Amino acid sequence: MNRSEIKEIKELLSTPKNVVIVPHKNPDGDAIGSSLAMYHYLNSKGHKATVVSPNDYPNFLKWLPGSKNALKFDMQNRQSKKAIAEASIIFLLDFNALNRVGDDMENTLKEFKGIFMMIDHHQQPEDIAKYLFSDTSVCSTCQMLYHFLEKLNDVEAINEDIATCIYTGIMTDTGSFRFPSTTSTTHKIIADLIDKGADNAKIYNHVYDTNSYARLQLLGRALTNMVVIDKLKTAYITLSQVELDEFDYQKGDTEGVVNYALSLENIIFAAIFIEDIEQKIIKISLRSKGSFSVNKFAREHFDGGGHDNAAGGKSKISLDATVSKFLKLLPAYQNELLTSYEV
Ligand code: 5GP
Ligand code: MN
Repeated sequence: MNRSEIKEIKELLSTPKNVVIVPHKNPDGDAIGSSLAMYHYLNSKGHKATVVSPNDYPNFLKWLPGSKNALKFDMQNRQSKKAIAEASIIFLLDFNALNRVGDDMENTLKEFKGIFMMIDHHQQPEDIAKYLFSDTSVCSTCQMLYHFLEKLNDVEAINEDIATCIYTGIMTDTGSFRFPSTTSTTHKIIADLIDKGADNAKIYNHVYDTNSYARLQLLGRALTNMVVIDKLKTAYITLSQVELDEFDYQKGDTEGVVNYALSLENIIFAAIFIEDIEQKIIKISLRSKGSFSVNKFAREHFDGGGHDNAAGGKSKISLDATVSKFLKLLPAYQNELLTSYEV
């Protein structure tokens, strides 16, 4: 985003507008955090902002201020379409390609004639927005949003609600400030957000200390299912639909599970394969340490993408066949895997 674009955006936002804010499908803390932060910011500036999420999100994000007012496109289809039809600006937050919202909503967004603004930190953003603010080195879209407000000279507009939402997205996308993308700038922003009212201990508690008993039992099963391939510094986990049902799976219950595989000493590549009978797919999450790019791996083999060290994808064959495909692919990466990460 150059100076003249920032000037244009400032002008656009200087008079009240109907604005819709869209996170990606199956939104995580960064997607919902940035969307609700933008929602509070725009409303405080006199706009009529509406968050339209493609679908529902985990309970551990529902305490966020403004969450109750967010529409879900799949469940509240008529209301969502109305909000989109009435909008002159749509913000696309935390995703880089229109198909990340899912087929149904993608078709609606394709017909939108107004202005798209995309704020995102994923690689290779599609050229779909009139205004694109993209930086793949930044840890989270929430931090990008803070930089966006800096560009608008409006950091002072950050109130407690906005600070809480931004803090949440930075916390979840950095694995609580430990991934390499966490910089001194991130910590300075976090300090400012605490000064502006974000309650760090409360936020952590809401997100991470609200597990159900069944969720922890499911985690136990996932850890039992974990397979370690020492010679390729790789570990993977599977969860079948039967297992998910056994532990009363709720949305969000498997989030973060893949990181346990990556926490093993000498493991630099971790994967989880989760069966989804309803969508007829195996949802795949990939994580790595060092130079081995799971974004590339997901793009090349599993119809996905993301970041170098955290990516996702899917497979339309069975769980067993997906794991077999994965295992057959690995030997070709042996050199990359063994040299990816020096401790
Ligand atoms: P997760 O494994 O937590 O679902 O996703 C890890 C990262 O990869 C996130 O930044 C997410 O947005 C991205 N990602 C997950 N699934 C997909 C996918 O199917 N396609 C693309 N392009 N990115 C994905
Ligand atoms: Mn993100």
